[in-house]
Formats: sequence, C-alpha cells, structure tokens
Amino acid sequence: MSRARIVIVGAGFAGYQAARALSRSARGAAEIVLVNPTDYFLYLPLLPEVAAGVLEPRRASVSLTGTLKHVRLVLGQVDRVDLTDRRIGYTDPEGRRGELGYDRLVLSVGSVSKLLPVPGVAEHAHGFRGLPEALYLRDHMTRQIELAGMADDPRERAARTTFVVVGAGYTGTEVAAHGAMLTDALARRSPALREDRLRPRWLLLDIAPRVLPELDEHLSRTAHRVLRKRGVEIRTGASVKEATADGVRLDDGDFVETRSLIWCVGVRPDPLVAGLGLPTERGRLCVDEYLTVPGHPEVFACGDAAAVPDATRPGEYTPMTAQHAQRQGRTAARNVAASLGRGACLPYRHHDLGFTVDLGGAQAAANPLHVPLSGPLAGAVTRGYHLLAMPGNRVRVAADWLLESALPRQGVQLGLVRSGSVPLDSESPELPRVPMEDRG
Ligand SMILES: Cc1cc2nc3c(=O)[nH]c(=O)nc-3n(C[C@H](O)[C@H](O)[C@H](O)COP(=O)(O)OP(=O)(O)OC[C@H]3O[C@@H](n4cnc5c(N)ncnc54)[C@H](O)[C@@H]3O)c2cc1C
Repeated sequence: MSRARIVIVGAGFAGYQAARALSRSARGAAEIVLVNPTDYFLYLPLLPEVAAGVLEPRRASVSLTGTLKHVRLVLGQVDRVDLTDRRIGYTDPEGRRGELGYDRLVLSVGSVSKLLPVPGVAEHAHGFRGLPEALYLRDHMTRQIELAGMADDPRERAARTTFVVVGAGYTGTEVAAHGAMLTDALARRSPALREDRLRPRWLLLDIAPRVLPELDEHLSRTAHRVLRKRGVEIRTGASVKEATADGVRLDDGDFVETRSLIWCVGVRPDPLVAGLGLPTERGRLCVDEYLTVPGHPEVFACGDAAAVPDATRPGEYTPMTAQHAQRQGRTAARNVAASLGRGACLPYRHHDLGFTVDLGGAQAAANPLHVPLSGPLAGAVTRGYHLLAMPGNRVRVAADWLLESALPRQGVQLGLVRSGSVPLDSESPELPRVPMEDRG
C-alpha cells in the first residue's frame, strides 16, 4: 500500500470504530484523517445521565487524540464533498475554511433531531442530541424547581414543576426516567415545595400505542411499570398540536401549562447526506452490503447516515443504533483496507444482540441475547454493558456511579449553555457554541 489518504468524516460510533480499526490494519501504509467538529467521541447512551446530574459531562466524551494515537484529527464541519475531484471542504471551529483530498472516503456523519411541522415547537422545545443540550437541560430543570420554590402564584409553581417529554423511544424514555428522579430530589430540598407537598409532574407522550415502540414488548412493559411507579404520566396515542411559551396543547385539546418541552421524536440523517446528490433511502445514503456507495468504489458509508441492507432481515435496512453503527464502522475499515490491497472484503452481517434501556437508580429494562431482564439485575447488566462498550473513561464513569449511590446529587446551575445556543432545528448539534443571552 503506498501512502494513500483515508478520510473519515464524523467521529461517532461508526467513525470512531473505523478510525480505530484502520489505525491498526493500515498503520504506516495509509494516512488516516478523522474530521469531526469536536475533539471527542460522544458516548450518546449516557447523555440522559449527564442531564440528570449522575455523570459529569466529560465522562461521556472520550478524547479522540488521547485514544486514537495514529490518526490525524482535523477539527471541522464538512459541508462539501466533491466526488469527481475526490476532495472535501470543511469549516473549522474558528470559521476558517479548509480542504482535503482523499483516496478513500468514509462517511459516518450520523443523524440530527427530527423536527415535525408543529406550530411553536421549533421556538419552544429543546432537543436532546449532544452535550450542550444535556447541560442546558440539567440547568433548566434545576432552575425551574428553584423558581417554582420562589413563586407565590400556585399556577406558576405548577407550570414550572411540569415537564413534558415528546417521544417515548429510548431517548425520551430515559430522559423522563432520569429527569423525574432529579426533579424529585431537588423538590425534596425546597422548603416551599415540601410544605406544599408538591411533587414535580412528568408527562411522556407518544403517538404510538406503547412506550419504546420500536423495541421488544418486554422492554416496553418493564419501562412502563418503572415510569408509572416513579409518577411519570404516560400518554400513548397522543401528540402535540401546538407549543407556546406557556405550555403545550395536545391533540385531544388538553392544554398543559409548562416551561419545559423536551423533544425526543426521533432522528433523521445528517443534512450533509442530502447535499451529496446520491441515491438515498429515507434520507440515508444507499450503500451495498460492503458499505460501498454504488458507482463510487472509493466511498464508504456507515452508521445512522447510511441505508445498510440488513442481511438478517432481507429487504430491510439496519436500524439506527449504536450496536450497528460501531460494527459497521469496523466492517467499513476492513473493506477500505481490502480496497487498498490489505486483507479481504467482507459483507456486513450482524444479528441484533438485544437492547438495554437505563431507567435510573438501579432500574433498567434489558434483553441481552434476547433474555428478558428487569430490576437491579437489568441495571447491573446495562451499566456493565456501557462500561465494556465505552472506548475510554471507564474508571471515571464507574466512580461517578459509585458516588451517586452514596451522595446526594448536586443541585446547582452553572449557566454555561443558554437556551438560544441549543436551538431544536440546529443541523450541527455537536459544534461548539458561543453562549447567548438566555431567553428560556
Ligand atoms: C440520547 C441518545 C441515547 C441513545 N441511546 C442509545 C442506546 O442506548 N443504544 C443504542 O444502540 N443506540 C442509542 N442511541 C443511538 C445511537 O447513539 C446512534 O445510533 C449512534 O450514535 C449512531 O452512530 P453514528 O456513528 O452513525 O453517528 P453519531 O454517533 O451521531 O456520530 C456522528 C458524528 O459525526 C459528526 N458529524 C456530523 N456531521 C458532520 C459533518 N458535516 N462534518 C464532520 N463531522 C460531522 C458528529 O459531530 C458526530 O461526532 C442513542 C442516541 C441518543 C441521541
């Protein structure tokens, strides 16, 4: 292999694993360049715990340069791919333009929050996709409980202690489960709320007939039971008709007064994919079973951004999960190396190994290898799985979990991320943002 340049765009589950595998298989023979807006890989499944104050934000972010020794990191957001000249264009965090040529390109740009055309949602809801959103939400929940404790008007107090999560997939379910624990703990510390016996109200809405609609029914039943015990109101078959600064109108006409609308309705592929002018499937870039883009044998795609044929379910595409993304990253790496003369190509094939949903405290719903588990055993399996799956920070994460089981949560707002800097319709949620005046 002569010094070919392999450019990987996006350092999420797929891109990180592709870079790691290539740094072993193509080390010395090819230059491996990883382009990402941030200098860390974000372990997204732990984000609800960051929002709930269980984990410090740096625990979920694994240093790219610290863990990928033979990979050149380019900090930037790619906005142009020239498939003819084999070049990409990007903007770095200080707004400067850059360009890079490539011999092989791996596109692993993931996904962004999905917006629905519901009046007021873009202005009044907050998404949950990156660290800024998690930090904003942690402060916001703390602030609402503190302001509720200061309010004389019972109506304002009730609105500030009401939290509405839209979307009961794994993100929304985990956010509601962890969020309710945090706000309960904060409310218990507020003399005014304690005196009023006011317990924060959490609503979890989904148009589907059950929580976790895309997962196994066992997980759904366990999550439903835990959430109900925790006092979360679950409204299935329900959606939002309109959002205002004072609350949300549901499609049954009910108006819920709240200052907190958390939008977890799902994701769509990163907008970079649409701009390529290549065939897509529901917005995901079409690839063959070798993760190659048809007609462009030098371009590979994997993870949420790619429509990868699911060899275990003919006619379908692999779901957008971390489990698939990281394995696809490794397969893409293998096939990139093979295309440069190292090793043999392999088609992507992976049987789903089950799922884990962390519900906070010792609770989780899990079906590892499709064995249904619930309660503390599921909680232990879920945490063990995350520790094994994380490429770094394991001791720090475990230490935070240990501290959380022994000490009360810290209820302080740092105000580092303001409402205006985490807009729901942001197309690049990981870009470092300059804090703006809080309008939330
Ligand atoms: C809160 C939350 C919890 C989740 N929990 C689970 C779970 O428990 N289990 C599970 O299986 N899945 C879970 N998922 C889904 C899982 O995280 C995704 O399926 C997975 O991250 C997809 O990996 P990816 O590499 O395709 O994309 P990502 O991990 O999203 O990574 C994409 C990377 O590309 C970068 N990027 C984007 N655009 C550009 C660009 N133009 N230029 C350069 N870089 C770019 C991004 O900054 C990011 O670093 C969760 C998702 C969320 C949001």
